[in-house]
Amino acid sequence: MTIVPQMNLSREALEPYWLPFTSNRAFKAKPRLFVGAKGMFYTTAEGRQLLDGMAGLWCVNAGHGPERITAAIREQAGHLDYVSSFQMSHPLAFKLAGRIAGLTPEGLDRVFFVNSGSEAVDTALKIARAYHRARGDAGRTRLIGRAKGYHGMGFGGLSVAGIARHRRDFGPLLGDVDHLPHTYNREHQAFSRGQPDWGAHLADELEAIAQIHDPSTIAAVIVEPVTGSGGVLPPPKGYLERLRAICDRHGILLIFDEVITGYGRLGAPFGSTALGVTPDIITCAKGMTNGAVPMGGVIASTKVYDAFMTGPDEAVELMHGYTYSGHPLACAAGLAAIDVYEELDLFARTARIAGYWEAQAHSLQGEPHIVDIRNIGLLAAIEIAPKPGEPGSRSAAAGNLCYEAGVLVRTAGDALVLSPPLIITEAEIDRIFDTIRQAVRALA
Ligand code: PMP
Repeated sequence: MTIVPQMNLSREALEPYWLPFTSNRAFKAKPRLFVGAKGMFYTTAEGRQLLDGMAGLWCVNAGHGPERITAAIREQAGHLDYVSSFQMSHPLAFKLAGRIAGLTPEGLDRVFFVNSGSEAVDTALKIARAYHRARGDAGRTRLIGRAKGYHGMGFGGLSVAGIARHRRDFGPLLGDVDHLPHTYNREHQAFSRGQPDWGAHLADELEAIAQIHDPSTIAAVIVEPVTGSGGVLPPPKGYLERLRAICDRHGILLIFDEVITGYGRLGAPFGSTALGVTPDIITCAKGMTNGAVPMGGVIASTKVYDAFMTGPDEAVELMHGYTYSGHPLACAAGLAAIDVYEELDLFARTARIAGYWEAQAHSLQGEPHIVDIRNIGLLAAIEIAPKPGEPGSRSAAAGNLCYEAGVLVRTAGDALVLSPPLIITEAEIDRIFDTIRQAVRALA
């Protein structure tokens, strides 16, 4: 089946759509329109092929458009389009929850479905507070996030996240929130491969925060195991273990936001498995359906779930959910995505190719303006010094040069961030880093 793309949009036709996360004026002056995608490549409206260095937006883990996923969505749409989320459901949602529970660390086996990473985060924060309340500990309401963290754009996620530009325009956020310091320190960590040696002690800030507020007022700590949108910051060795120990000491729930690290990005089903630290709650989205249908999830431990299951049978245990929670099309896509990941043995493959990825990323050390390179799993960031007084200037210019050269990368502040589909070949890895090399040389 071929879809005829609408290639020639007039300036007028561009006006009604208010694009997210985008300078609308700049975009509408010079639109980047994509009309197709397959495997590692996008097709632009001009008919160019672009190597996708970002897996869409950290989500298309098995590459674009695997036929098995497309067919599952198509078939489900003709079968059962929708079921209400009030007191009814459908078999695929149970089947998917079971498959997900089979991928998570031991004990994390109760899955609540939502439609995005932002919803997953807000849901997890609500579950954390309600969990303590259900146990008769309603005084535990304080939430702890981390500087440079990204947890989506809902008010809950914004409140625990730590990126100033995202918060600036939106007035008061949730009260009762504190932040850990971020874990990045270039002086001690520059050009580290994988997890940096320096920085485990920064987890002890949690103990300090707990002592300021009284630990018995803290509901949960939420961190990304690897800070993603904040610039790909792998956790220092021992850091997550220390956070886990402090949470255990004080009865604080530990939430890992695995919207990026879930579904194989670090070479294991979840980042928790890859990094060897088990949280109480995981949030996920993106790779859940290989990006094909919006879906997110909150995966809770049995302990958390069971705390809700104590009242009278007819009472709603968690008064929360969404019209499209566990949507049949998303569940069909979610099941097919796991099938594809397993068929390709994609998580183990990622672990194998991550060494090559690391070596090629770090081959850029010494190129003009590059002041740091970070990597873990199939993630990387290339930090490019800006022109004095112009933050982001050279990274943006390098990103544009890559785009012109046929490679799609993303900029996050002064970094180029990379998160390719996990099916990437060694030759495609070479092409990504060679293109960045040429771009920074051209800027010199
Ligand atoms: N948490 C993390 C760690 C993310 O990376 C993202 C998206 N980049 C989100 C939450 C929000 O997900 P969504 O855009 O699907 O709401």
